[in-house]
Formats: sequence, structure tokens, C-alpha cells
Amino acid sequence: MFTLLASAFAMTVIVAVRYVLTSGLFAGLTARRFPGRLAGLRQQVWREIGWSLASAAIYGVPAGIVAWGWQRHGWTRIYEDVHARPLWWLPVSVLVYLLLHDAWFYWTHRWMHRPRPFRIAHAVHHASRPPTAWAAMSFHPIEALSGAVVIPALVFIVPIHVAALGMVLGIMTLMGVTNHMGWELFPRWLVEGRAGCWLITASHHELHHQRYRCNYGLYFRFWDRLCGTDAGLGQFREAPARR
Ligand SMILES: [Zn+2]
Ligand SMILES: [Zn+2]
Repeated sequence: MFTLLASAFAMTVIVAVRYVLTSGLFAGLTARRFPGRLAGLRQQVWREIGWSLASAAIYGVPAGIVAWGWQRHGWTRIYEDVHARPLWWLPVSVLVYLLLHDAWFYWTHRWMHRPRPFRIAHAVHHASRPPTAWAAMSFHPIEALSGAVVIPALVFIVPIHVAALGMVLGIMTLMGVTNHMGWELFPRWLVEGRAGCWLITASHHELHHQRYRCNYGLYFRFWDRLCGTDAGLGQFREAPARR
């Protein structure tokens, strides 16, 4: 019992530290590139940090329980021997995880834009106007819970090498932060090119925060395009910084 609680606690601390470091890094880059931009949003930033740290526990506890079960009882389909499965499965498993996470996010996100769930939960995330790098995990606990169960559930269903899982979590963290920071990190040729038609970066998610009823996806524009909710790329409120 003690090791289970220790694992849940440790994972909460890891998620919180990861949030502070990555959001802090990109908020710092934002402040350097656009001096003064965050200064006017100080109150909002503190609110974003508060909600995000609460979300860290909601993400950390299920992840900690699953990590404990994996280490102690061999739960999950996470594997450590890279040759236990064909090597091509490494990149494919990363893609499968991202696609499944994206599908879950798209449909739960659309549901959260219905009047009642929006009022009760999702309004917290949309209180960030414009969002900042600190809004990466700024969710009401109900929304945080809907996001927190995805990866812990998938590791029971879809086999994944531990390093590939690390890659999925890395991409999740990077995109969660950069999609909210109010400027485009990725080069113009990518964002406005052919790949950008299918990938979601800050230019796409910014428009969701401006218009609400479009651009619901997380990593890919596939569902938005299929369901007619894709409104294209947005403009940032201040001078766009695309290169
Ligand atoms: Zn958002
Ligand atoms: Zn939304």
C-alpha cells in the first residue's frame, strides 16, 4: 500500500515539475521574443498555474498507479526489450497512440462544448484569452480526468516500448505547451505546407480559443476536416512571429 501511494505521489511531483519546467521555458522564450506580452496577463497566468498544478495530481495519480502495477505485478503491455516486437512497431506504436489520443480528445472536446459541460468544466480552459504557455494543463478537474485516463488505459491495450511511450509523453507535453503560447514555433513551410494541412500547431489551436466552435483537434486535423469543424489557421493577436 505504501509503495502504491509513493508511486502516485512521485508521479504527481514528476508531472508538476515537468509542467513548471516546460511551460516556464516557453513562457520565458515568449517574454524574450515579445517583451511585455505576459506582463498584462499576470492574473490570468497565476490562475492557469493554479489549475494546472491541480491537474498535475489528477494526471499523476492514475499514471502512478499504473506505473506501480507495471513494476510490481507486470500489468500493462509496456515492454522493455526492444526486440520483443518488430522494430517497425516502435514508430508505428507512437503514431497509433497519438491517433487514438487525438480521437478521444476530439470527441470529448466537442462534448465539452455543449452548454452544460462547457459551463461546468471547459469554461476554465477558455478563460485564458489569449492563452499562454502556462495554460497547457489549465483544466477543470472533470476535464483533467477525461485527459488523464487516456494513456494509462491505452498501455493495457496497445503494446508499446517504454522509450516509445516516453516519446508519446514528450510530444504530448511539447504540443500542449506550444499550442497555447501565442506564437508559432514551427517553420512556415511546415505549418502552411502540405504536412500542416494535417498537423495541429499553435496557429490552428489559437483559432479555437478565439472562435470556440471550430478546430477541436489535438495533434491532427483529420477529425476536424472530416466533420467540417476545421476553420483553418488563425492569426495571433499581436504581430505573428512565423519564420
Ligand atoms: Zn486550448
Ligand atoms: Zn475548447
